[in-house]
Amino acid sequence: MFTDVQIGDKTPFATYADFYAWAKERSAIGQIQGSAYQGNLPNLVVLGRYASDIHGRISSLGRLALTDNDRTQMPAVMTWDDYREYFDQNVAPRGLPDHIALVESVSGIEPAFCIPRPQTTCARCGGSWTLDNCHDIDGEGEFEHPDFSQYAGTTLRDVQDILDNQTDGEYRLDLCIQNDRWIDLTSRDERSYLDHAGIRTEDTEHAITQDHVVHDGDKGTVRHTRFYHGACYKQHMKAQHAAEIEAMRTAYAEFLEQRGGFENVTVTQGTVPQRIIDVMLDGDTVPPNELAMMKKQTPYWDITTKQGSFAMVECAGPLFDLTKTGLTVAEVCPSYAPHSINEWLLALDDEQNGEGENTILRLCNALQKKQLAAQP
Ligand SMILES: [Zn+2]
Repeated sequence: MFTDVQIGDKTPFATYADFYAWAKERSAIGQIQGSAYQGNLPNLVVLGRYASDIHGRISSLGRLALTDNDRTQMPAVMTWDDYREYFDQNVAPRGLPDHIALVESVSGIEPAFCIPRPQTTCARCGGSWTLDNCHDIDGEGEFEHPDFSQYAGTTLRDVQDILDNQTDGEYRLDLCIQNDRWIDLTSRDERSYLDHAGIRTEDTEHAITQDHVVHDGDKGTVRHTRFYHGACYKQHMKAQHAAEIEAMRTAYAEFLEQRGGFENVTVTQGTVPQRIIDVMLDGDTVPPNELAMMKKQTPYWDITTKQGSFAMVECAGPLFDLTKTGLTVAEVCPSYAPHSINEWLLALDDEQNGEGENTILRLCNALQKKQLAAQP
């Protein structure tokens, strides 16, 4: 039976699992009570870490605004009004933006619960959460389309139960199954794209329900929310960014070799030069923080090849920066020269370069010619 915590309780929960069970049950009660106008649970702030509103919805308190000292000082169970008072007296004077910092946010994608279950582990370090660090949680959700063949013969309800036992995050099944055996190319109605792809949902003619019995070849739709400790999430984001940069580097190198005939290509990430920022600004001035952001967000690649060195920059499409080549736009692509902004920025897009010239091949040839001419 559900026992609500009382104002003034010193140690309302013995473990994180207790806290989770309380929060989850309170949320269930809040939902049964229905719409936003019917919630009648008292607003509570617990553990100096979470607020639970009249509908039992859980939100985390401003993680960066509050310190460990605040969390220990605050009563373990307080009303929202008491928390507000505490915030105004102790936190706001530290110069933090006022009420925005009261509550951080709810993480995880619906209907995943925004705090991890006790058995869920951090997707980066494999560690868990305790009452002491349960304010330090980041969530990230994505859709996955796994092959459900291994569950053939069981219902989607059973599959959800199996997935509920996973520890690497929370899984929520959508009522959407794709199977090639349902592909119907004869269908012409407005939803025919679903028929053509063999997709059935809860809204299609043959509706998918929780009682759907999984068939060999069924592909499901799952919302997978992973949870991270704050520091682990930062590492995860950094690793993800590095992987994206690596993928772009590889893609550029392949592109230059295959489309342009360049050899021994190496691509490294460089810093976008001020002269390119000046072109982008076109005479405008922007505040220093915006300028710093622009520099950070404009990808710039230094490229060395057997044929010569140059650079590429992404601004409204990829451009070659010819500065290092000693060649001008007119020397590489004469038909583009009348349209160019200056003598050293050349659009990669063949269409933009008039006459349908193959820009990249022209650059490779021009560099090769220059190299030959330089030889004694
Ligand atoms: Zn971790």
